[in-house]
Amino acid sequence: MKKRKIIRKIKVVRAEEFTGEMAGDVREAKLARVAMEILKVVGENPAREGLLKTPQRVAKSWLELTSGYGVDIHKLLNGAVFEAPESDMVVVTGIQFYSLCEHHLLPFHGKCSVAYIPNGKIIGLSKIPRLVEAFTRRLQVQERLTSQIADTIEELLNPQGVGVIMEARHLCMEMRGARSIGSPTKTSAMRGVFRKDSRTRKEFLDLISHNIN
Ligand code: ZN
Repeated sequence: MKKRKIIRKIKVVRAEEFTGEMAGDVREAKLARVAMEILKVVGENPAREGLLKTPQRVAKSWLELTSGYGVDIHKLLNGAVFEAPESDMVVVTGIQFYSLCEHHLLPFHGKCSVAYIPNGKIIGLSKIPRLVEAFTRRLQVQERLTSQIADTIEELLNPQGVGVIMEARHLCMEMRGARSIGSPTKTSAMRGVFRKDSRTRKEFLDLISHNIN
């Protein structure tokens, strides 16, 4: 008896499929196909009038909601770092953010406060919300997101310390599963004096307590 030849098909996934180096229009077309597939699988009729343009709309919004992958963080910030002798705490509070949880691809959103104590270098204030946006417009978990913001400021400015606090509502917890509504998730990342010195941490928490709700 002849041995049957088994050909194993190995799916080769090219790196560009992960790195987002595909051209924007190619990615948009691919996302639209996925959205069309979702419509069919959930039992909808993609040909009904209200849904005709839905795949395109979904594709466009997904590109926007994940646009942080295309942001070069160092390019974004490097031109805005200045020498400065100040050593008072800089606080930017009430930064509204929207992200997508990487476990369910559902939104989580809330407010973020960022503080640092300079050590010879400061960054343009408007760059802090831009930094938050670059990291939130990716698939995230809130804990990592919080650390990434703190670590980036620490690496860039080498300050005396950095503190980041995020408070968010996760729709994957509210719309499905446990349905725990009204219990926002709080995360914090403290570096340098914010971690070591409880008075500094308290000053930060007192400053933002009016703005986080
Ligand atoms: Zn989730």
